[in-house]
Parts: sequence; C-alpha cells; structure tokens
Amino acid sequence: MEKVFIIGCGAYMDAGYGCPGEWRCLKAAALGEGKFSAPSQVIAFVRCECPGRTIGPNTGMAMKLSEVKPDAIYLSTCMVDARPGCPYAQIEDLAKALEARFGVPVKLGTHEYK
Ligand code: SF4
Repeated sequence: MEKVFIIGCGAYMDAGYGCPGEWRCLKAAALGEGKFSAPSQVIAFVRCECPGRTIGPNTGMAMKLSEVKPDAIYLSTCMVDARPGCPYAQIEDLAKALEARFGVPVKLGTHEYK
C-alpha cells in the first residue's frame, strides 16, 4: 500500500465552504477513490498557510518526524480547484517546487466528490 502525504489549503479549510470537517481527502485515500488509484495510507496531513512560505519546511518536518518519505504527495482538491484560486502561487509551480525539493511525485487533487 502506498504511503502518502496530503497538503491542504488552510485558507479554504478555515472558510469551511466545502470542507466542514468530513475530510473527503481522507475518505478518497482510504477507499482508493478520486485521484487515488488504490487505498493509500495517509502518513501526514500538512496544512498550507498563506502566503504559502511554510509549505516546504512543514512538509520536510513532517517527513523528518514521521520518519517516512512518502511514495507521493497529494495537493488537495480544494487547493487545486479553488475558485477563486490561490492569490499567492500557481499550484502547478508549488507542485514542481515540492517535487524538486523532496524527489517525490506530487499529484494535483485528491477527491472528486461533490
Ligand atoms: S497560500 Fe494559497 S494554497 Fe496556501 S493556504 Fe493560502 S490560499 Fe491556500
């Protein structure tokens, strides 16, 4: 079973628009639905904080403290498909920066639930 990290948009989670706490990312990972091709173990859930400077250090700290280098990092659907989008960064650029920094594939999105 793949070990994965998920990174979510903290601003979106705080607003609660579509994430009142039922954690669809975790459901999709557990059931192997949405962007997950098979059930996956979520080792860390990292919260992005505006303006996004902490995403790299916090992901690195999660790897260090968990002592797990994940098979993949998933950027949450609320981060990737937010409307309006993130005002601070292009999410594709964030994904490339994380891939370059950690040598782990970064996937765009987690679930496809409505
Ligand atoms: S920097 Fe962008 S992705 Fe990160 S929490 Fe803020 S709005 Fe969300």
